Amino acid sequence: MKLHFETQAIHVGSDSDAATGAVIPPIYATSTYEQEAPGVHKGFDYSRADNPTRQRLEHALAALEGAEYAITFASGVAATSAVVTLLKPKDHVLAGDDTYGGTYRLFEQIYRKYGLEFSYVDTSCLDSVSIQKNTKMIWIESPTNPLMKITDIAGVAKRKKGALLVVDNTFASPYLQRPLELGADLAMHSTTKYLGGHSDLIGGALMTNDKAIYEELKFIQKAVGAIPSPFDCFLVHRGIKTLAVRMKAHSENAQRIAEFLSESPKVKNVYYPGLPSHPQHEVARRQMRAFSGMLSFELKADATRFLRNLKVIVLAESLGGIESLINHPAIMTHASLPAEERTRRGIGDNLLRLSVGIEHPDDLIADLENALSAI
Ligand code: PLP
Repeated sequence: MKLHFETQAIHVGSDSDAATGAVIPPIYATSTYEQEAPGVHKGFDYSRADNPTRQRLEHALAALEGAEYAITFASGVAATSAVVTLLKPKDHVLAGDDTYGGTYRLFEQIYRKYGLEFSYVDTSCLDSVSIQKNTKMIWIESPTNPLMKITDIAGVAKRKKGALLVVDNTFASPYLQRPLELGADLAMHSTTKYLGGHSDLIGGALMTNDKAIYEELKFIQKAVGAIPSPFDCFLVHRGIKTLAVRMKAHSENAQRIAEFLSESPKVKNVYYPGLPSHPQHEVARRQMRAFSGMLSFELKADATRFLRNLKVIVLAESLGGIESLINHPAIMTHASLPAEERTRRGIGDNLLRLSVGIEHPDDLIADLENALSAI
């Protein structure tokens, strides 16, 4: 029987514990496993290589992304790093020009010195996706962080000419968007965000249908060792059981807030793919189930004063939790970008990124209204 997303999120990887019948299986807090004779064991030998709690989470994550395989990591950045280590010196990565600042930092400050080449284009414009002879990977985010640009994933997949297409699906979550079904080779997540959903862990994941890529990444997971703890795996697994209901609520709240902000005379621009005025609104409608809880807006006046007057919405890095978080990209999440790179990308000093939580939307709007009246 083909189960719906909501049912898979609750049941895949969640069979009751065989030993005790516990409906919620125990967290396997163990580094090692007893062997009957050297090399004879029940499938687990050392927890860097595999762990039952992690394995259950990986089964669930694969199902949600519509993938054969999922592999988890200690952070989103560790998952990104694992993907890059599939490449060799002189290979070229064509990346989106509005990706998470830490992805750019990893590419530029870590991997460039090992001889990999990176260039950045606006992948929301398909014509800018031009593949060089040595392009082995295309790295895109959709929606992007922080400007919420949307890339036509199926359109890029048609132009990839043998390069691996990797989509950072963190902002959408697998409930709203499934890149593998649109032709991507790998989906990547910071599970810290919507998958965990409660701002209480750091983690990352990769999903693919390609067995050879999976086996290589599984080797990298064990050989490099950036694995998540069993407790963090348990937390992500608990979080994803409510992913569908949370994403619906995040998306509904964000739509209302984006509309409210668009009407304010104190706001210069609102970036939200659910607004018909968003340049890629139609692409987003086509490839996403709803528009997620992430939006950005640019104030006409002093963002710092506005932030000081918020009472419910919390000023903090990160996103995708049940509570609303606001972030000043130029000073916080994207400070690792050189100032000229920020300007080139359109990340100004009055730009704010809001991760809309699932509080009552009237309270969030009242909080924003109050802070806007102070500037
Ligand atoms: N990708 C996106 C879109 C992100 O927003 C982040 C973190 O903010 C990451 C990747 C990195 O994930 P982590 O912080 O879990 O390493």
